Amino acid sequence: MAYQQRRFGGSNNSRPGGNRGGSFGGARRGGSKGPAKKYIHPSKFINKAVAKSDEVVYESKHKFADFAFNSVLFGNISKKGYEIPSAIQDQAIPSILEGKDLIGLANTGTGKTAAFLLPVIERETGTHTSPTVLIIAPTRELAQQIDEQFREFAHGLNLFSALIVGGVSVDRQMRDLKRRPQFIIGTPGRLKDLINRRLIPLDRMTTLVLDEADRMLDMGFLPDIRAIVGGMPTDRQTLFFSATITPEIQALVNTFLRDPITVSVRTSETSEHVEQTVIEARDKAHKVEILTEMLRGEEYDKVLVFGETKFGVQRLSDHLDNSGIPSVAIHGNKNQSQRQRALKQFKDERVRVLVATDVAARGLDIPNVSHVINFDTPQNYEDYIHRIGRTGRAGASGKAHTFIDIQR
Ligand code: AMP
Repeated sequence: MAYQQRRFGGSNNSRPGGNRGGSFGGARRGGSKGPAKKYIHPSKFINKAVAKSDEVVYESKHKFADFAFNSVLFGNISKKGYEIPSAIQDQAIPSILEGKDLIGLANTGTGKTAAFLLPVIERETGTHTSPTVLIIAPTRELAQQIDEQFREFAHGLNLFSALIVGGVSVDRQMRDLKRRPQFIIGTPGRLKDLINRRLIPLDRMTTLVLDEADRMLDMGFLPDIRAIVGGMPTDRQTLFFSATITPEIQALVNTFLRDPITVSVRTSETSEHVEQTVIEARDKAHKVEILTEMLRGEEYDKVLVFGETKFGVQRLSDHLDNSGIPSVAIHGNKNQSQRQRALKQFKDERVRVLVATDVAARGLDIPNVSHVINFDTPQNYEDYIHRIGRTGRAGASGKAHTFIDIQR
């Protein structure tokens, strides 16, 4: 191979700034804008995958039949092919059914969506007052995925939803809201817009779900969220999901939740079964050259490439296209339907390569990614784990490559 993969001897867990020659130059990044990146020692991008047999398999205490779900809902769960509750479902569903507030420490891929949808759907079945459930997610794609799952689970139950996200026409959403669906699923900005137009009666909501709360904070949605939650009754049920608990998140939890129970299924194992290596490159042009050559390899059959900027992601995707490697790109400069189309092409395996920014790819459920390639290094180690968690899911083996500057 013309590119060089590098191994750093010793532990994979050496701390950033550890005594490994110290020649990487801290958080410095030539000419970059925006918040400074946190320095991540390249050794943290390297990991020998743990064999599947070494993994601890979670043993669910419940079967879906143990939960007090009505027969239609139970049938819909079976139709989806779910046999055993995942860890978060197993631990969260009984408490949510009891009406408790919940903090779910869980990342994408854990089954957290069904963990909150199923008990809330069960509770809403047969009710006519509407709308009563508000689900807020950071990105349009995530909101859409939640809505898709909702429709499957609620099929035949006379429960309806409105998807309230930006980037698409507001007229249809206004029409949907006038039909008074029980569930409103959306992103903060557009929700706030329609609340201001008095189309969403917050004061009658009984259930609030905040999904990927940490991401919403990262994306600057805190004022919108505060405004929305401030308009809801205080005796609501609140279900709060986040992959991380920072002091800022803890402060939100303290103000939004009452006597919550906490379920944590977040473990580091998402990265343990991912084979992780670094690839050294001189500069951007060299990275492009190496990547293009790599992607010609047959084993790269479903590849997610992460770039830092909207512009860089589009340029890289265009370059790959021009080099005979069809790719699609998702980033904030694309409108909603373009993003959806790109995602669908990739999910349906009509193109092998998806180039994305972190924000655009957030929370997306894309099964069976063979490789994650970090064309640009992530902002911090958590983002790295989040990125590579897209491969090696559900016990499948996956590979992650991270481009780093050539080490001298
Ligand atoms: P989520 O973490 O909610 O994004 O879910 C990740 C993926 O796991 C989705 O494709 C779900 O449909 C799937 N999933 C969730 N719960 C289960 C389950 N109990 N059994 C099988 N698949 C599941």
